[in-house]
Amino acid sequence: MTVSTSAELSERESTLLASIPTGVLIGGQWRAAAGGRTFAVEDPATGKVLLEVSDAGAQDGADALDAAVAAQDEWAATAPRFRAEILRRAFDMVMERADDFALLMTLEMGKPLAEAMGEVKYGAEFLRWFSEEASRSFGRYSTNPEGTGQIMVQKKPVGPCLLITPWNFPLAMATRKIAPAIAAGCTMVLKPANLTPLTSQLFAQVLMDAGLPAGVLNVVATTDAGGVTGPLIADPRLRKLSFTGSTPVGRSLLANAAHNVLRTSMELGGNAPFLVFGDADVDAAVEGAMAAKLRNMGEACTAANRFLVHESVAGEFAEKFAAKMSALTLGRGTEDGSKVGPLIDAKSRGKVHALVSDAIADGARVLTGGAPAEGDGYFYQPTVLVDVAPGARILSEEIFGPVAPIVTFKDEDEAVALANATEYGLVAYVFTGSHNRGMRMANRIETGMLGLNVGVISNAAAPFGGVKQSGLGREGSLEGIAEYQYTQYIGSPLPDNG
Ligand code: NAP
Repeated sequence: MTVSTSAELSERESTLLASIPTGVLIGGQWRAAAGGRTFAVEDPATGKVLLEVSDAGAQDGADALDAAVAAQDEWAATAPRFRAEILRRAFDMVMERADDFALLMTLEMGKPLAEAMGEVKYGAEFLRWFSEEASRSFGRYSTNPEGTGQIMVQKKPVGPCLLITPWNFPLAMATRKIAPAIAAGCTMVLKPANLTPLTSQLFAQVLMDAGLPAGVLNVVATTDAGGVTGPLIADPRLRKLSFTGSTPVGRSLLANAAHNVLRTSMELGGNAPFLVFGDADVDAAVEGAMAAKLRNMGEACTAANRFLVHESVAGEFAEKFAAKMSALTLGRGTEDGSKVGPLIDAKSRGKVHALVSDAIADGARVLTGGAPAEGDGYFYQPTVLVDVAPGARILSEEIFGPVAPIVTFKDEDEAVALANATEYGLVAYVFTGSHNRGMRMANRIETGMLGLNVGVISNAAAPFGGVKQSGLGREGSLEGIAEYQYTQYIGSPLPDNG
């Protein structure tokens, strides 16, 4: 399979890139990084440089936290509706510029334009959802059981937050944190992934255009993640760390956060099992598998990582799934008909291929794909593997690519044991004709989320997050704003009757 891509930027692409702020955002001003250094952001479909962005250092990080701390009290005192209306305006503005956001994500991250448009809608929904939540964040009141005092409970913003986001969903991972932090009244320092900072840069400008006061959101893109964020995590003025990324990095950030007993939210890696039972509608399961595997080229924490299929339908499922996977068109996300974009970089593609090669060496059979695609960029062929050995690395590690290993099971107990045989617990997918069995699986499978007869379940109104080593806390829904609030109890005697 060969992929040919045009390395020339179109006029529209060049114009969009020229409009992106390239500095660090501190106290409402875009400026060059303190050392004047920059780094290049690349198009993974061509390997060509798109734009140079300021490379923040420790001083910029410190300035960003100073600005967030300085803005905190005034921001926390704003009316909830004031914050709600900024979010609502930002929602409208992101949707008005949906084409720009989608194109920018396709350029820096590689996903096909249609998928990027899907992310714009999904990401923007966090702005709308939390604009609605901002003024509905209630405390409570009660008389104590002894009848002698009042119990008043109020929610308060936790204070300045450090938000660290990954490269795979450049808009949605940012809005999922920034929107509830704004709604709750927190100020922020955002450190986007250095592979895809451009979407965050544009989004930060949109927020300011929507009326976000100076200093509430500060943005420091950097190639020295540890050097910039380490001192902030150690600074007692920081009150919260919200991280989305890999489990190993999350683990080490948690250890660092322990020093100041920081509030933390951790959205970490996954190893989602995708279960197909003998009573499932196999065609629907194949559709679900395509969505759960191919969304974002498999570069999603929620991507189905292991396909566990009942032996009675395994042959039919594998054959139909492989036929669909082999019919997909690879190409730069901006090209018509492209269904599968490149992986993010050469290292990621190398890791995907190493997992596939290992599985093959252990006896797996390739139904389709099995190798990098030839040509420019970091493309990998959509791949289906069967007869995967139980101990294969590909079943225990996050693949993060368009590769589907299939394993068979004999009965429900074996399916549950296989599904739970991982340190991760983010999401599982279950396809079955029996609602009863589906609910039984929800009870027995240890994940924070479960898709029942559906391959994609992300929604701003739903609590997103994992258990075990997939993380702590939830994003979206009612839980999402609570991550940025602390509970204060005020006790007082009952008022006397005068
Ligand atoms: P990553 O390597 O852990 O990086 C995530 C973020 O952490 C990036 O901004 C990165 O910065 C930063 N970072 C790396 N080392 C750091 C350090 N020592 N100190 C502070 N920050 C540091 O993960 P990724 O490769 O970008 O993203 C893929 C991973 O994210 C996968 O494991 C995926 O499952 C997970 N993910 C989880 C969810 C979820 O909601 N559970 C959602 C999406 C992705 P630089 O990249 O700029 O160095």
